[in-house]
Amino acid sequence: MTASATSTARLLIVGPQGSGKGTQGARIAEAYGIPVVSTGDIFRANIKEGTPLGKQVTAILDAGDLVSDELTGALVRDRLSQPDAEAGFLLDGYPRNAAQVEDLDAFLGEQGVGLDAVILLDVPREESIARITVRAAEQGRGDDTPDAIEKRLDIYEAQTAPILEVYGARGIVDRIDGVGSLDEITERIFAALSARGLVRTAAV
Ligand code: AMP
Repeated sequence: MTASATSTARLLIVGPQGSGKGTQGARIAEAYGIPVVSTGDIFRANIKEGTPLGKQVTAILDAGDLVSDELTGALVRDRLSQPDAEAGFLLDGYPRNAAQVEDLDAFLGEQGVGLDAVILLDVPREESIARITVRAAEQGRGDDTPDAIEKRLDIYEAQTAPILEVYGARGIVDRIDGVGSLDEITERIFAALSARGLVRTAAV
C-alpha cells in the first residue's frame, strides 16, 4: 500500500531489558519510515564523542542514575524538532517518569499532536532474566550479576507502571506478548498498529 503524504506515526515502545525492544523498535521504525529516538543511545553517543553533554552525563550513566528531567527534556525537544521526525518517531527510553510524560505532552500539545500508540512488549520477569543472562554470558560482561539484573528490572517496573497507567487511561497502550519468534512478535505489533489505522510506508 502507498502511504499518503500525511501519514504519521508517533510511537513509544516500552519494555524491560531483554524484551527485544531494540530489535523490534528498529523494525517498526523501518516499516513506518520514522527515526528511533532513544535517549540512552543519544547519551551514550555523546559520551563516546566526548561532547560537553557527554561530559555532563558520564558519571550519571555510570552510576545507573537518571539524568535530570530538564536536561533530558531539552534533548528530546531538540531531537523531535528535526525534520526527519516531522512524519513521526519511535521513542525508546523516554518518557521514563510522570514528569517526563507531562513534558512530552506539553511539547506535542504545542504542535497539536500526541502519541498515537504505546507499544508495551510484555515479557515475564523470568524470561527477561533468562535472556539477559544468556546475552551477558555471550558478551562476557562481568557486571551483569543476577542481583544487578533483578535490580534493573525492579527499577523498570517501578518507573514504568505509572507511565502505563497514564497512557492506558488514554486508550493508547497496545500490550504485545513478547514471547515467541522475532517475526511473530513483529507481526503482532504491526497488527496492533494497523488496527489503530497507522499506515506502514515500507515492507519489512
Ligand atoms: P537506557 O539505554 O534507556 O537504559 O538508558 C541508559 C541511561 O541513560 C539511563 O540509565 C539513564 O542514566 C539515562 N537515560 C536514558 N533515558 C533517560 C530518561 N528518559 N530520563 C533520564 N535519564 C535517562
